[in-house]
Amino acid sequence: MKQNPHNMNADEKELDYPLGEHLPQPNVMTEVAPGVYWLRMFLPFALNHINLWLLRDAYEGREGWAIVDCCLDQASAREQWHHIFDHSLEGLPVLRVFVTHLHPDHLGLAHWLCDYWKVPLWISATDFHTAHTLIHPSNPQQGDQALTFLKSHGVTDEEVLNAATNRNFQFIHMVPALPKHFVRLHDGLSVTIGGKRWRCISGYGHAPEHIALYCDSANVLISGDMVLPRISTNISVYDSEPMSNPLQLFLDSLKKFDQLPADCLCLPSHGKPFRGLHIRIAQLARHHDERLQELREACAQNPINAVEAMAVLFKRDLDGHQTMFALGESLAHLHWLWYRGELERVAGDVVRFKPIEAELPH
Ligand SMILES: [Zn+2]
Repeated sequence: MKQNPHNMNADEKELDYPLGEHLPQPNVMTEVAPGVYWLRMFLPFALNHINLWLLRDAYEGREGWAIVDCCLDQASAREQWHHIFDHSLEGLPVLRVFVTHLHPDHLGLAHWLCDYWKVPLWISATDFHTAHTLIHPSNPQQGDQALTFLKSHGVTDEEVLNAATNRNFQFIHMVPALPKHFVRLHDGLSVTIGGKRWRCISGYGHAPEHIALYCDSANVLISGDMVLPRISTNISVYDSEPMSNPLQLFLDSLKKFDQLPADCLCLPSHGKPFRGLHIRIAQLARHHDERLQELREACAQNPINAVEAMAVLFKRDLDGHQTMFALGESLAHLHWLWYRGELERVAGDVVRFKPIEAELPH
């Protein structure tokens, strides 16, 4: 199918989009592989949409559908789901709800969908329990902790500090509840959906334990947020795990996806279905290599903090919300260099990173 090369960046041109420029209409599902349907919902962010997947299913003696990912808990998404239930499911029920990971655009409506259909939620245990602690925090000072974290990395901008405590961006605002119980997904688990076997592939660095689904017989990968065609997955250090090395976890996880067939159809949570998985993985590895090199060069001049690293890596204007992600991402790259023994992490009122001249003995 013809594609408009003007909308694509150089990396995207190396990928193959089998559906071309096609995007599903808001209340219509597009079949992308036998029994696998694509639904797209609006998100009120800079990233303005999410892809959801519906699979024909048979479970516990009933015919119906499996849903993969749910959208935020917002009125427009509930309306869209109602429309799909009434017009697109051939009168059949939803039998299962799968969620790739805990981020609100994926998990938000799971409680409502599971309750509406009286069906279980299938998710990794790590993401289920982490979501639970975000909704029912044991630490009532969570907002203060985020502020302390941001300030310790050099953030002084009021807009950014306000975004950190803005109710609209709080997890519980977008994921108000969770189902009471869940079915655990984990790496290597084989789940039969609609008579086909789908293998769970765990991924780290973006979410606590992201689960992608790969079907050998259909050669289809539901990649979630682990492999996206146009944008790079957000890899952030968060205040809840301030010393983490998520970039290493992410790059290690990509190696598992690199073992899947090069020509598999990749169904990402954002952007369009594509082929060229190995090419995309190589692009992502290169992208992060280049960002790391930029930071090595910046640190060689002067020790830098995360805000200064962000100015090196993100040259466009960012709003408060985007800045929080960009800061976490900048810190993820600094931490990768720190874990590698290339940088020293120097604590103080503001944490700084400076080069280590000689390699330390192990
Ligand atoms: Zn995500």
